Parts: sequence; structure tokens; C-alpha cells
Amino acid sequence: MAGTFTPIETKHRRIVTEIPAPQSVPLIEALKAAEPRSMSGMPPIVWDHADGFQVYDAWGNCWIDFTSAVILANVGHSHPVIGVAIRRQLDAKLWHNYCNPSEVRLATVRTLGEILPPYLDKVFLLTTGSEAVECAIKLTRLHGRSISPEKLHIVSYYGSFHGRTMAAQAAGGFMDQQEWMGLKPAGFHHIPFPECARCPWGKEKYENCGRECLERSLTRLREQGVQDELIAGVIVETFQGPFVAFMPVDYAQALREWTVEHRALLVFDEMQAGLGRTGKWFGFEHYGVEPDLVCLGKGITSSLPLSTVAGRAVIMDRPEPGEMSSTHTGNPLCCAAAMANIQVTRDEHLVERAASLEPTVRSRFEGLRNDFPRHVGSINGKGLVWAVHLMNPETSRLDPDLAGRVTTRCMELGLLMLQTHRGTLKIAPPLCITEEALLEGIEVIGTALKSAIDDCRRRETLRPSL
Ligand code: PMP
Repeated sequence: MAGTFTPIETKHRRIVTEIPAPQSVPLIEALKAAEPRSMSGMPPIVWDHADGFQVYDAWGNCWIDFTSAVILANVGHSHPVIGVAIRRQLDAKLWHNYCNPSEVRLATVRTLGEILPPYLDKVFLLTTGSEAVECAIKLTRLHGRSISPEKLHIVSYYGSFHGRTMAAQAAGGFMDQQEWMGLKPAGFHHIPFPECARCPWGKEKYENCGRECLERSLTRLREQGVQDELIAGVIVETFQGPFVAFMPVDYAQALREWTVEHRALLVFDEMQAGLGRTGKWFGFEHYGVEPDLVCLGKGITSSLPLSTVAGRAVIMDRPEPGEMSSTHTGNPLCCAAAMANIQVTRDEHLVERAASLEPTVRSRFEGLRNDFPRHVGSINGKGLVWAVHLMNPETSRLDPDLAGRVTTRCMELGLLMLQTHRGTLKIAPPLCITEEALLEGIEVIGTALKSAIDDCRRRETLRPSL
């Protein structure tokens, strides 16, 4: 775990030790020994505390956070208003109450109801994103069965992520991540995501072809024996995570029309896109469509674990009393955090703020592409969630190795970035980030990219010719 030590001292970043900080290594090693290997994929930084858009370790280092801790801390880390709300709930001595009625749960579902479109008139609270997706799949199948016993099939997208539990992962579209199942649950089908930069049908560019794209996918499904009337619903991420790829609007609208025509549900997984991240309260608003079910999590509290499925009563009320519940449903502390989080998002106008910063971010990343035209490909994003696609100029393919190097270099320079492992740089700072810190962070990405490209060239020059 050898680190490169470049001392940094700016208004927003401070690096005063090697990374990993030598003092942190025993703790990192002890965790490795005590936890499964799967937990060791994160950057070697021991978070001491996080505040606003910055993350601190205990040895004097401070990073600008472009991750929001996996797109969670939308209003910023440790927001004082959320802190007060959680503390007040602690003092009220109601820390849990299973599914028993409580004031705080009522207030939370009502508050969520205020920001969701009014037709989504029932809100169910859970704990994790995977749990919300599992629940949406259950509701979708129950809906299908209410029409016909065979209407059970779930359609989702290659390259999507919906969580790590069984049905959520079966709906997910990274097939390598499903191998552990051995026996896969039946009735899950994947179609290509309409990402125009890498058109699944080999087109050079988007030509108002969203409808055609959907029709081609449905034809393929029909050929595989999945007829339209057997489909209970389609689950889609508002944008595909590592690439921040949004659907073309005509595709999303065609999908809505098709699902209405065939009485299938349209489910939006808004785990990353919800709560202001894309410059609207909910990402699906960009498409002008009305989903049947919406799954939310992460940014709903900017802190404690809470997730949600929202939908129309006719769908949400299908399970009998007690058939759809969970031990931590609407945990009072998490509910208090969610209400405070929504209040802060409103009071600080963070949805508008994310939208207003979008042109600045776009133009800075376009500047980066001008500086590195051979290595920077598509730039996708809305509001304050972006992906810069890094390309290998020799192969014209995404370059996960280069993206990994840039991300690591950023960390050494005092900027925290998400590792996508897919050849993109993913940028998702808390929506409260100042413009000054945002621009400083983007400049760091430029410096890191230059240094990673120079490193690659140096290695190639040093490689002995055979
Ligand atoms: N859906 C999406 C789009 C996600 O990004 C995630 C988490 N990264 C999940 C579902 C699963 O959420 P959780 O990790 O809370 O189970």
C-alpha cells in the first residue's frame, strides 16, 4: 500500500501525510482481517468525520468530496438541522417502534407525499435500496397476477444496478455479478439500455430513434418467447450509474406508452437520481413520464438508512395487512432525518442549485475534453451528477485502468472520487458544495488526468522493445 506524498494546502484541501496515512494502516489491516474480503474495495482513507462537502481523517488530511458517500449526502455531510432533528428524536425516547403507528412516520410519509407527484398517493418506508427494489418487484408481480396468472415477467436493462439481494440482483444487468446464484430466479429478462454514445444497435448517432430502439428490444424478447402480455413490469434506473447515461426522452415516453397499453407497471429506481441530484426533485421528471412505482433511498436522509417505495393505492394496497412489512419500517430516527433533509433541501434551494450549476460543470468538462481530446470521450450528466468517459486511444474503448489511476491520483491530491471500475470518472458532490470548491475539484481532475496520461507514456517509453 505504498502512497505518493504530495503536500497540499488550499482553502478546501489538505494533504499532510502519505496516503494511506501511515497511522491508518493498522486499522485498515485489522478490518481486513475481521471482515469479508468484499468490504476491502474502498480507497484507503479512514474517515474520521465529514462536514458539508469535505471529508477528514484523524491525521490532518482533508478532501473535497465528489462522492457524497455514494450519492447519499445530498444536502451535505453532518448537516446541523438533521443533527438537531435526530437528537430531538433521541431525546423523545422513541428509537424504534416496529410497524406500530407513530406521529413521526405519519409526518414522514406525508412530507414525502408533498414532494412526490400527487397521484403517487401511498408511501411505504423501508431501510435499504435493495429492499425497496425487492418490494417494487413483489408489487409488480402481484399486479401482474391480478390480471393473469402468467403475467409475472420482469424486464430490466443490461448494465443496470438495483442492489445485492436476490431479486434486486436478478433485475440488475451486470451478468457477471449474477454467477454466484447458480440457480437464477425465473422470469427476469434484460434488454439493452438505450445509451446513444454506445448504441446497442450500432447506430453512429441518435436520430429520434427511441421508439425504434424499444421496439427492437421487444421484438427480441418476443423471439425468446416473452410475449408482451406476459410482462408484469419494467424496472429502469433513471440513469445508468457508472456512465450517468440517461435514456432519450422519446424512448422513455415510448416505454411509458407501451407499459400502459399492456397493463405492465413502469418502475423507476431513483436511488441515485432522487432528491434533487439531477436538478429536479426526481430524475424521472426529465422524461415527462409518470412511473407507477418509484424507489428512493440514499439521498432521502443524507445520513441514516431509509428507503421508500411510492405508488398508487391500487398497487400499494395489494398485499394483505402484515404481508409487506419490515422490522425497521419507518424507524423514528431515520424518519426524523428524512424530514429534516427535505426541509433543508427546500430551505437551501438545493434542487435549483444543482440545476444552476449544471452549465458550469458541463463547460468545465468540455474544457477538459479540449485539453485531452484523445482520452476524454462522452460527458454525461445533469444537475450535480456527471460521468466523464475516459478512452483508450489505441482501442477506442473505455479505459478502466486510466480511470482507476486518475481516481487514485485525485485521492492523493485531496479529492475523493467514486471508483466505477468501468472506465468513467463519476462526479457527485453534495449539492451544497460552493462553486469555488466545485471548480477547484474539477481542476484537480485535470491535473490527475495529465499526470496519469504522462505516467502511461513514461511506462511505454521504458518498455523494452522485443
Ligand atoms: N439501486 C441503485 C440505482 C443503486 O445505486 C443502489 C446502491 N448503489 C441500490 C439500488 C441498492 O441500494 P442499497 O445499497 O441501499 O441496498
